[in-house]
Amino acid sequence: MPTVAAFHQVNEAEKPGPKRMHHTNDACAEGIKIARSERVEGTGGFRRCVDCSRQDEIDALRSAAASGTR
Ligand SMILES: [Zn+2]
Repeated sequence: MPTVAAFHQVNEAEKPGPKRMHHTNDACAEGIKIARSERVEGTGGFRRCVDCSRQDEIDALRSAAASGTR
């Protein structure tokens, strides 16, 4: 799934500290729950979602494998 521009939920700042995060991948299980209308572009200064980091790594490995480079 593609990496997308960083986004976070419109009410992200109202969540408990550890739950505040931004997303960068369309395949993220948490990010996918955020409706398009509730998405705000940018990181908002929040840390990146762990699942998004993992998805981005998987994407990077896949594209490296596809292009034959490492
Ligand atoms: Zn995420």
